[in-house]
Amino acid sequence: MPEDNFIGLRPYGQIDLDILEVLVKELRQLFPFPIVILEACAPPDFAYDRGRQQYLAKAILNDLVKNAPQGCKRIAGLTDVDLFLPILTFVYGEAMLPGQAAVVSTYRLSGKNSENPVPFEMLAKRVVKEVVHELGHTFNLVHCDNKDCVMSFAHELDHIDKKAVRFCRYCSVLFSDALGQGL
Ligand SMILES: [Zn+2]
Ligand SMILES: [Zn+2]
Repeated sequence: MPEDNFIGLRPYGQIDLDILEVLVKELRQLFPFPIVILEACAPPDFAYDRGRQQYLAKAILNDLVKNAPQGCKRIAGLTDVDLFLPILTFVYGEAMLPGQAAVVSTYRLSGKNSENPVPFEMLAKRVVKEVVHELGHTFNLVHCDNKDCVMSFAHELDHIDKKAVRFCRYCSVLFSDALGQGL
């Protein structure tokens, strides 16, 4: 295990190692913390909702916190199951605002649920953007009106593909403030 204050990536079930490696590389550019791939957990059956046949994102956030290793400043879960919140039909990801945990699903980002599975490069970019977005929330960043900013709220895959991987200047300042406050 590394020193304190690292960001851990927790796969639930089988997550493509190449995706995790791209994530580590990209997150290192944006977050001033070591990025560590943690041991994989079993698929998140505990979060399954029979009625909706989807997985409750909040239950996964709680599980991430409960099982976070010592010194883990933030923990981001990766899963390939379809996530939901009670008020929404689905979510690409979810996070504590602010808090320790975030989760992102490849289920819809991969297009495997549709007729259009996407190439690896495209999937990897989408996953990176969603993980950066959700981690942004854990540092108390809210949704940004700038459509190019990674913190803009994307309802559609097309928007995810168009927006940047990075925080806009405004969100970068908020992020620096959050770090300054020890968040
Ligand atoms: Zn968001
Ligand atoms: Zn922004």
